Amino acid sequence: MDAKVYVENLLCSLEQNNKGEKEFLDAATEVLTSIVPVLEKDKRYIEEGVLERLVEPERVIMFRVPWIDDNGNVRVNRGYRVQFNSAIGPYKGGLRFHPSVNLSIIKFLGFEQIFKNSLTSLPIGGGKGGSNFDPKGKSDREIMRFCQSFMTELYRHIGENVDVPAGDIGVGGREIGYMYGQYKRIRDSFDGVLTGKGLSYGGSLARTEATGYGLVYLVDEMLRDNGKDFKDKTVVISGSGNVAIYATEKVQALGGKVVALSDSSGYIYDKDGINLDVVKEIKEVKRGRIKEYLNYKKDAVYTEGCKGIWSIKCDIALPCATQNEVDAKSAKLLVSNGVFALGEGANMPLTLEAQKVLLDNNVLFAPAKAANAGGVLTSALEMSQNSQRLSWTFEEVDKKLKELMVNIYYNAKNAAKEYGYEGNLVVGANIAGFLKVADAMLAQGIV
Ligand code: NDP
Repeated sequence: MDAKVYVENLLCSLEQNNKGEKEFLDAATEVLTSIVPVLEKDKRYIEEGVLERLVEPERVIMFRVPWIDDNGNVRVNRGYRVQFNSAIGPYKGGLRFHPSVNLSIIKFLGFEQIFKNSLTSLPIGGGKGGSNFDPKGKSDREIMRFCQSFMTELYRHIGENVDVPAGDIGVGGREIGYMYGQYKRIRDSFDGVLTGKGLSYGGSLARTEATGYGLVYLVDEMLRDNGKDFKDKTVVISGSGNVAIYATEKVQALGGKVVALSDSSGYIYDKDGINLDVVKEIKEVKRGRIKEYLNYKKDAVYTEGCKGIWSIKCDIALPCATQNEVDAKSAKLLVSNGVFALGEGANMPLTLEAQKVLLDNNVLFAPAKAANAGGVLTSALEMSQNSQRLSWTFEEVDKKLKELMVNIYYNAKNAAKEYGYEGNLVVGANIAGFLKVADAMLAQGIV
């Protein structure tokens, strides 16, 4: 059968079987359509049902998370862990705590994670999890009780050689600490079952910085490969969480000027360049809102609503907040304002239509699968250190992170070239990520 028709049919039946799961269907559409050239070259992937198996998670776990708030009320949330694919290693992927979390979002993230993890060149499979719990406005004690309840169910499904979760939106060092404590208490075992741990109990130096730094390392390589760099460039970054903060830090270190950051309420614009110490104090210490930046810098401008951030004129854009935050309209605005490069720090921050606008206008585009792989990559380095009972220095980890991000860039670039899509890193990242997993699946038989 013609590979293109085969993929179209598969996408139709996927839509039938996963009704209403827009995020998951979008992610699957992007990957499956871009690997058509691979299927044309090697029919075994079709004959052995690799794609049908790839789009079906190996296991989906959904569970009740009951907890008690500070007023003594019983509260109930829903927990998820999607163990998508273990062909090349234990499931690996973050946990997200955010009210928007649903099965479609966790499946899309888990699906993307398969290819991202494969691209890192390290032996890790794909998974993702989380809850519709909203950490905003909760006390430390409430967060602890929620995390303990969440882990009281999750612990039976994970393990250092089975599934190793990490953080994501709403899950940082504090939450990982509470979950790790509960896991250890139940299992009575000190092992590397979670990554993103504190340094005093098995965490890796540079894990906190890894996704943001890794994003900038990869984008920097893409710029250099095209005769450009970050020096003196105006950069807009969305979000002000873990990824955004450390992307800002690295851009500033490379001489770029970050003029805007946001949260889900609005965005700040500082023509002089963002003062990152202030943002860290607001977000990492006080857990406050980005609007509070105005208390420190009177002439900065705050605007309600987060979409408007893409109307700010910039050379390079790094969306680092959440999925679908840049639509086609925002992408057109970026292009008309002269943006020449965009790197996805968040997972799928661009809609498929927005992606097309950038590619049609020859904007250098680094897709999330490649660009934000630094977090999971450093998590895998944390796993290695845990197995060896060793801690590497910050410089050692950072050096490996940089080398591997540069590697990812060239793997994606070369795969795109080999299959006739020179310059298209979306196709290149999908193909390079797919091949390793698909070949492992072929070798392991129909399982
Ligand atoms: P954080 O929770 O630390 O920060 C998220 C930031 O995005 C916050 O500023 C948050 O604002 C903002 N945000 C969240 N939801 C929305 C929304 N619906 N609209 C606008 N802004 C929003 O998360 P991370 O920085 O860890 O993650 C950011 C992105 O990067 C996610 O897509 C995540 O999947 C991806 N990622 C993260 C990795 C990691 O290592 N942490 C690894 C790879 C990818 P507010 O505080 O108001 O909610």
